[in-house]
Amino acid sequence: MSQLTNKSPLAPKVVAPGGRIGILGGGQLGRMLALAAAELGLSSHIYCPDTEAPAMDVAAGRTRAAYDDAEALARFADSVDVVTYEFENVPAETARILAEHAPVRPGVTALATAQDRIVEKNFLKSHNIPTAPFADIPDEAALLKAIELIGTPSILKTRRFGYDGKGQAKISTPADALAAYDAIGRAPAILEGFVPFKCEISVIVARGVDGTTAAYDPVENIHKNHILDQSLAPARIDTKLADEARAIAAHIVADLAYVGVMGVEMFVLGADASGPRLLVNEIAPRVHNSGHWTQDACTVSQFEQHIRAICGWPLGSPKRHSDAIMLNLIGDEVNDWASLAAEPGTALHLYGKAEARPDRKMGHLTRLYPFGLGPKTPR
Ligand code: AMP
Repeated sequence: MSQLTNKSPLAPKVVAPGGRIGILGGGQLGRMLALAAAELGLSSHIYCPDTEAPAMDVAAGRTRAAYDDAEALARFADSVDVVTYEFENVPAETARILAEHAPVRPGVTALATAQDRIVEKNFLKSHNIPTAPFADIPDEAALLKAIELIGTPSILKTRRFGYDGKGQAKISTPADALAAYDAIGRAPAILEGFVPFKCEISVIVARGVDGTTAAYDPVENIHKNHILDQSLAPARIDTKLADEARAIAAHIVADLAYVGVMGVEMFVLGADASGPRLLVNEIAPRVHNSGHWTQDACTVSQFEQHIRAICGWPLGSPKRHSDAIMLNLIGDEVNDWASLAAEPGTALHLYGKAEARPDRKMGHLTRLYPFGLGPKTPR
C-alpha cells in the first residue's frame, strides 16, 4: 500500500487540554463533537452560516458566517488550534483558506476524495479495494456505452452532493437510461452495477497523527425512505468477515494518510458470491450516524476518538463492551421522548432542534444489551 504524504506546512502538533477546536458545521455531529471535546478539557468554536445550529448551544465560541467569507474563515482559524468539520461538502476554497491558518484535519486530500464519487471509486480501485463495477458518465453517449458494459440493473448517481438517496436513479432496463439521466438533471455522474447485497454494514475507523489506526466492530445498517433508521451492533456477519471489514477500513485511512474518524460503508454479498464478499460503497471523512452507538457501548466513542485523533492524542480503544441497537428519531418520532426516557437500558440523545420536520434527524437512542446477547433482528 502506498502512503500519501501529509504536506501540511502546519506540522502535526499536540493540542493539549485547554486548547480549542474549530468545527465547521453546526448540526448534531458538530454538537456531539463539541460535547466530546469538553469531556477532554478542550473547548470548541463552531463556524456555521445557519441561524439554527444545535452545535452552537454547547460551544464556547461561535461564528455565524458564510462558508465563502474569507475574512471570517481566517479569523476563525486563527482563533483555534486545529480545524475539523462535520460534513464532507466543505468547498475546496474554504478548506484551502482555513489550512493557511490552522491544521485542517482530516486534510484536503480526504475531502477531495470523498466529495466526488468518481474520484472516490478510482481511489479505491487503485488501492485494490473492491467496489461495485462503475463508469464515469460525463455525457449521454458515455451513459449508453456504460450500460452496455455494466448492464442492468444499475444505479446512476450524481458525482457530487448526493446524500440519503438524493441524486440517484435506478436503471432497471436499458430503456430506462435516459429517463434516469433526466431524473438526476443530466449532472456529471457515475454508473454503478446494482449489488445484490445481503446486508449493508459500516465500519467506523480512526487514524491518529502517528499513523496508528483503530476500527470499531462493523454494524449493520437498515434504512427507511433512504435515511438510516437503525444500526445493529455488532452486524450479523461472521467473525472472519467482520475482521476483513475492519482491515479494509484501516487500509483506506492508511492509504489516505488520514487523520480523524471516517465512516466506511460496505455491501455484504452472500457466501455464494463468486468474487469478494465485501464491496465498499462510500467513505465519509467525518464522524458518522452509524457510529452513534459507540457513545454508549464502547469506552471511547467515535466523537471522542475523532477529537483524540485530530489533537494528536493517543487513540482510545474501539472495543465494544455491550451489544447495542441505535435507532434514529426522525421527525415526529422525537415526540415519544418521555416514554423513551423511561426505558431502562436505553440512552437517549436529543439534538435540541426546535422544529420536528419530516425526514429531519431530531435525536437517537441506543438500547444496550450484555455483550454477545444483543437482539438478532431489527426492532
Ligand atoms: P449511497 O448514497 O451511495 O450511500 O446510496 C444510498 C443507498 O442506495 C445505499 O445505502 C444502498 O441501499 C443503495 N445503493 C447504492 N448504491 C448501490 C449499488 N451499487 N447497488 C445496490 N444498492 C445500492
